[in-house]
Amino acid sequence: MQQSYREYFKLGINHHLLFPASFDSEEAHRLSLPEVLAYPEFEVIDLFISAQTDISAEQIRQVRDSGRVPVYNCPLFNGPRLNPNSPDEAIRNETVLAAVSHLQRAGAIGARKAVIASGPNPGSPSQIAEGTDAFVDYVAKLCAEAPSLTLMIEPFDRSIGKNLLIGSTREAAEVVRRVQEMGIPNIGLLIDMGHVSLMEETFAQAVADSSSYIRHVHLGSCVKNDRANPLYGDMHPPWGYPGGENDVPELVEFMKALFACGYLGKGEERPTVTLEMRPYPGRTERESVDIFLDKLEEAWRAM
Ligand SMILES: [Zn+2]
Repeated sequence: MQQSYREYFKLGINHHLLFPASFDSEEAHRLSLPEVLAYPEFEVIDLFISAQTDISAEQIRQVRDSGRVPVYNCPLFNGPRLNPNSPDEAIRNETVLAAVSHLQRAGAIGARKAVIASGPNPGSPSQIAEGTDAFVDYVAKLCAEAPSLTLMIEPFDRSIGKNLLIGSTREAAEVVRRVQEMGIPNIGLLIDMGHVSLMEETFAQAVADSSSYIRHVHLGSCVKNDRANPLYGDMHPPWGYPGGENDVPELVEFMKALFACGYLGKGEERPTVTLEMRPYPGRTERESVDIFLDKLEEAWRAM
């Protein structure tokens, strides 16, 4: 491609995967957010905001002052008490409340899009069917609670990493279709490049199964074929990581699929695409971001 990729999409960076310690430590989360917001290469930031009131007030101010387009990533709710696809409506409603507190913070930072996911894979085909009905109910309630946000279902694997109810991508698209059929417009999905092979899908198939519903994209990789690898499963290794599935050739293939379905290259407003990877072993976050950008550039030139 001759023109810059920046003319085709708004590039983002995922805060908590670049600084994985921020998942578990409020302090790590608080200290690393300003660094990511200061990277000049990104128009978009994928993040969540701390629930701790004093920290959240500071973070909301920082994101707003940064001028970045925020995409709010809700955490997974996959414990026994919080489960978006529990057949028990009381548990589902409690999960709606937990998610709404995140969506309020999404609103506070000015986000227009927020990422959600299903809960644990319940197991048998009949339980999956029952869980999917419950998840449709959950998503519909959540969309009604946050009419100013577009919620996006992120499909995950059902077997080797997070083991959630939804994907496949096709099943995520089916949930979106059912929710839209209820007259609810603010629902779509996102495709995570690193989840596609964990779901035993190809890029072309995942994108074809969901094309008109795609509202956001995560770029990254995964380790699928080496159980002994410390990043085995859905751990978001960086592109080219030893034992990982994705590097520049896969990125070329994925972006071609995104062009083919019209997510890239059509429409007035540039869509969002976010890098969602851990740093390279032995490299700093900043050095790792430089490598991500070089690889993206190399893939773009090969398009
Ligand atoms: Zn993702």
